[in-house]
Amino acid sequence: MSNPERIPFLDLSETAARQGALLEEAAARVIRSGRYLHGEETRRLEERLARSCAADYAVGVSNGLDALRLIFRGYIELGRLHPGQEVIVPASTYIASILPLIEFGLKPVLVEPDPRTFSLDWANAAKAVTPQTGALLTVHLYGIPSWDASIARELHEKGILIIEDNAQAIGAVQSGPGLKGFSGCGGLGDAAAFSFYPTKNVGALGDAGAVVTYDPELASMVRTLANYGSDRRYHNIVCGYNCRIDELQSAFLNVKLDGMSDDIAMRRAAAETYLSEIRHPDILLPDPPERDGVVWHQFVIRTPDRPGLIRKLDEEGVGTDIHYATPPHLQPCLADLPHAPLPLTEKLADEVLSLPIANVTPEKALEIARRVNHTLLLS
Ligand SMILES: *Cc1c(COP(=O)(O)O)cnc(C)c1O
Repeated sequence: MSNPERIPFLDLSETAARQGALLEEAAARVIRSGRYLHGEETRRLEERLARSCAADYAVGVSNGLDALRLIFRGYIELGRLHPGQEVIVPASTYIASILPLIEFGLKPVLVEPDPRTFSLDWANAAKAVTPQTGALLTVHLYGIPSWDASIARELHEKGILIIEDNAQAIGAVQSGPGLKGFSGCGGLGDAAAFSFYPTKNVGALGDAGAVVTYDPELASMVRTLANYGSDRRYHNIVCGYNCRIDELQSAFLNVKLDGMSDDIAMRRAAAETYLSEIRHPDILLPDPPERDGVVWHQFVIRTPDRPGLIRKLDEEGVGTDIHYATPPHLQPCLADLPHAPLPLTEKLADEVLSLPIANVTPEKALEIARRVNHTLLLS
């Protein structure tokens, strides 16, 4: 075929260009303000995040991992979680979901995924509850809500904290039975961690994150911990960290939040095109339980011969990526972590492949689907 134009998996300069002038203005505004931390941009970002989740509090922090660390350390400081307690967590996730548990002496209990969400199987999670369970961490992986309202309520009534790793699902909405009131990811549980890593759906131009919660005690503890453990100037009540967000990133994020619904609409349109146009016997398309609320952080297909498909797509000029080839429990740093056999997690890790989904216009989505189908002819 005639040398087709290469479609990269992700080009962040394209993402930035969509709001280029506004981002440049935001940077100029911060530079001129003379205020680079704890300023108006951060305050506005926090207010918008809290409001968007129907939560009372949001604390901007340095990154998504720190958001998770601050939540777990915060609950420990408040005496609501204790080192040695178990935390139920999906085995099929990015390692950042697990690291804070290890750091604070909590015991990760790795649970097999629901293949429709690629993340926590809630029925399995309910079976994993023991008297030592202190919390459950759900991960809305790839922008697909992972939530079961009735099991969440049941666990909550047992005093188990429900925490959301919402790094990949800002703007996603859980639908389905048993939900009352607000159902946006990040506002479903006791607390949620957000990441604004540049590749995330709402990406900073650097590192940033946030904690969202309706709990005033946790919000206050997280804010304190993130600023050296000081509750007021030069007065330190706990041994904290420096996990602050800066004004520049907050200003960029305020611009990005303005563009979020357009971005989600574009991702959804591309995903729908893939779902209707890709016809390939070796490709299993994603099939989330409720498609409407998904924000498609990644569009993840499964295929038994992944190396073969990657090679053929590369020949067709389509860039791909893998999220994630090695699950946390097979990482060298977690080799000593006890866990039940996790055959489904390992099978998914061997089969998943992400197609381009960011900055994919309707025409580009059709073209990618056409090239994916065309790989059938290359053998
Ligand atoms: C990106 C990510 C994190 C960590 O966020 P950073 O901002 O990179 O620290 C945590 N959990 C999940 C599921 C993520 O995708």
